[in-house]
Amino acid sequence: MTTSEQLFEKAKTLIPGGVNSPVRAFRAVGGSPVFIKSAKGPYLYDEDGRQYIELINSWGPMILGHAFEPVEKAVRDAIQDSFSFGAPTRKEVEMAELITTMVPSVEKVRMVNSGTEATMAAIRVARGFTGRDKIIKFEGCYHGHGDSFLIAAGSGAMTMGIPDSPGVTKATAADTLTAPYNDLAAVEKLLENNQNQVAAVILEPVVGNMGCVLPQPGFLEGIRALCDKHGALLIFDEVMTGFRLAKGGAQERFGITPDLTTMGKIIGGGMPVGAYGGRADIMNVVSPAGPVYQAGTLSGNPIAMSAGLAMLHHLNDHPEVYTRLEEIGSALVNGFQSSLTKLGLNYTINHIGSMFTLFMTERSVTNFAEAKTCDLPLFGRYFHAMLKRGVYLAPSQFESLFLSVALTDDLISQIIQANEESLQEALA
Ligand code: PLP
Repeated sequence: MTTSEQLFEKAKTLIPGGVNSPVRAFRAVGGSPVFIKSAKGPYLYDEDGRQYIELINSWGPMILGHAFEPVEKAVRDAIQDSFSFGAPTRKEVEMAELITTMVPSVEKVRMVNSGTEATMAAIRVARGFTGRDKIIKFEGCYHGHGDSFLIAAGSGAMTMGIPDSPGVTKATAADTLTAPYNDLAAVEKLLENNQNQVAAVILEPVVGNMGCVLPQPGFLEGIRALCDKHGALLIFDEVMTGFRLAKGGAQERFGITPDLTTMGKIIGGGMPVGAYGGRADIMNVVSPAGPVYQAGTLSGNPIAMSAGLAMLHHLNDHPEVYTRLEEIGSALVNGFQSSLTKLGLNYTINHIGSMFTLFMTERSVTNFAEAKTCDLPLFGRYFHAMLKRGVYLAPSQFESLFLSVALTDDLISQIIQANEESLQEALA
């Protein structure tokens, strides 16, 4: 037994499923998860001393590679002044100013401790502001584990949300309407059938959570126009895309202005941080400026703010990071594509900047139904073949990879080679 396997056996007796977040358990790919001991730059190191090239980067935050020195130093310096005060600090003001500069649609912002908190608060604000109860979300979009978002779009779900997880009440689910991603007509129908009842449409402007799925031309513009027509707020969940697809996120890249934005991951430099913000008139309903209650003992925590500030300042001051991420993304995708062609495979690659997914299906993937046509056992074998070759992928077909600038050209070549060998091994 490896040390990771031993730890997993013990963990299962103490933690539900042995993990503190379900996807880490490798259920979607089989086998036993690797327990990570440390990481530096582009590498992860496990408890058995094995080294892996990182292609998830903590599900997004480590865009500059692990233990990036300015972030590490900011945290070390901040610790000298104690860990938490539960009182306002200068760093929170600096953070708010930096976010509103980098993401201009955000005029006011509130810091929280996770992406889940950010999306839960954003819909409460949308409901408080509009006086409406329902929200529209998209099948396959993940917005954290808040009750309102754990809703599947089964066949009946176009009109009435069906709880996806025991513990979510039918009453809560009924207020969440769902539509297929990239389907404007479905959204229009929901808005027309629920006149003056929809507080907000929330979506990932580029989806990471059914694998990487891009908005088709006109989709985001169409949603923006439908929201305006029906008086619903448009919420971009940029927990994954924020500060990644551009310094101003997907909204900058696609030139669409949402009313509210939720953020997480990169914003905390690897610490547990989220944020939500948007138009000042909307954000002014948040307590204590307004009546919509939302709070947090550790919100705006000084250590977390220090890490996030160091990360965001670096991104704001170094536009070349984004140029390099585009190069890395393109190089990997081109390499993967050449291997597919060489092996006579027609699988689909979706890609934008430093996010991409190789889907084990010959169909184009523009929504969750299409993503579900993938050969999942094949993905499981491919995942383990990559792991064996020292490349750490997301342990599920329905995830995007998140690249960091720490990837060198040499590492990119190694990943491309491992991908080609792993495809052959998985298909043998
Ligand atoms: N929104 C999106 C788009 C996400 O990808 C995630 C997490 O992956 C969340 C919200 C929830 O964030 P957290 O896991 O920090 O609660």
